[in-house]
Amino acid sequence: MPLQAWLCDVCGELVTSHPNNGLVVWRTDRAGDGFRKYDFKIVHKTIDSDPEPQRCDPGSSEGYHSSLDLKLFLGPNGLAMLLSWLSIGPLKGGGSAPQVENMDEFVDFVRRVQTPYYEEARSRFDEEKTHHWLGDANEYHPYLPETLRRIADGTFGE
Ligand SMILES: [Zn+2]
Repeated sequence: MPLQAWLCDVCGELVTSHPNNGLVVWRTDRAGDGFRKYDFKIVHKTIDSDPEPQRCDPGSSEGYHSSLDLKLFLGPNGLAMLLSWLSIGPLKGGGSAPQVENMDEFVDFVRRVQTPYYEEARSRFDEEKTHHWLGDANEYHPYLPETLRRIADGTFGE
């Protein structure tokens, strides 16, 4: 099922949307009069108990001072939070600078948590046949859930 499992950016094993399993971590830099978020990672929450301890969260010592439960980024509420980082919108005065440093990186992260099958297809983006299939596609067609499902399944050309 899409949007229920991700590949941990540290250990490569599956992270799920269950509470206490997934965590999103990122770094922040001071920029102008605010802070900009960057280097988003989806990782396992630190669990020291058995069966297997998980210590994928790089933590503050590595510069990742911010983290939130993965579940908070999912669904309409997650999208509301993610969009507020780009624009605080009319009810908060507008005119704010985006709170993210790199738009391509941020959109990649948003698609991972919001677009069905993006995560499943993501590891195949560099494959030559994916490029071949999508050579003539318009800008958004590759990111439609159905296109992504076919990339993930390797059935795009059928
Ligand atoms: Zn992990």
